[in-house]
Parts: sequence; C-alpha cells; structure tokens
Amino acid sequence: MFLVAHIGYTLLTAEILAHLYYWLFLKKKNLEPTDSWGIVHFAFLPLIIGALGPDIIDKLISEPITGYGRYIGHSIPFAILIFILFIAIFWKKPTVYSALILGWIMHIILDTAGFIPWFFPFVEYNFQSKTQTYIELLFQPYVYNNEIGGFLCILFLAVLYFRRGFTLRSFIQHIFTFSPK
Ligand SMILES: [Zn+2]
Repeated sequence: MFLVAHIGYTLLTAEILAHLYYWLFLKKKNLEPTDSWGIVHFAFLPLIIGALGPDIIDKLISEPITGYGRYIGHSIPFAILIFILFIAIFWKKPTVYSALILGWIMHIILDTAGFIPWFFPFVEYNFQSKTQTYIELLFQPYVYNNEIGGFLCILFLAVLYFRRGFTLRSFIQHIFTFSPK
C-alpha cells in the first residue's frame, strides 16, 4: 500500500479506537466529550511516523543495500523489538508510544494483501525485488483506489475536527506538545 492510504486509514482507525475506548471506559468517569478524540490518545506525529515506519526501514534504509522493498522492517520479530524500544524510550508518554505502535501494526495489516516476511530472520523467504517503478504502481487500480480512500479518510477527519472547533493553530500546537489541551 502507498503513502496516503497508510496515513489516512491509520488516522481513521486511531479515531475509531479512541471513541470506542471513551464510550467503554471513560464515559462513566464523566470526562469531557473531547476525551473521546483520537488526537487525545494517539499523538499525531508519532502516529504518522509509525504508519510509515516499516517502509522507512525497508524502502529507505534496507532496499538500497538488499534490493527488497519488504524486508526485516515488515517482520513480526522486528516489530516486537521496536515496540519494546518505543515503550522504553517514551515510557512517560503513553500517547507517543501507543501512537507509534498502533501506526506500525496498521502498516503491517494494510500491507497483508502483498508479500510479507512475517517471521524473518527466523524463517527463510523468497524475497521479491521490485519489478515496477513507483509511477507504474501508482497507475494500478488497487493502488490509486486506496490512495483516494486514504485521502477521503484524511478529508473526513479534517472536517470532523474543524467542526469540533479544533483550529489549525491548536492542531499545530498539538503536533509539537503532544497534548491537545
Ligand atoms: Zn510496507
């Protein structure tokens, strides 16, 4: 899956999960309705970084060396290792590590339509080298339909947040402080 689809579907999932969590556990505590927002539970920038994480590792770092676009960054053992690292580094900021982890998990889930080296390096895989360019891939219906889908998710969330009174200024503040309040 491509860039916009990964970001859009992940942001929408975070929003839905935050609402579910609010209605199941927080509503009884009479918390503010704003506590149901995805941005309260999952820090925005770490969510984006997590959503692109496996591709950052594989397409930017390992592909120039190995020639494979899906390598160790898309495997479960590596994901577990990196989740432990995220939690250790951002121990005091659960909105940051939960966003990184959710983004990463969503990336792998959204990539399952194609080849994934699930248990690498413990299992041998027939890695696939890239046969098409990014532009060629982008013209495939599966790819551009999902890109449009991802864009619509982003648009929907933008409208939702601005209707809730979330301004561009509060959004920019949130990106850098990791707290919407
Ligand atoms: Zn990927």
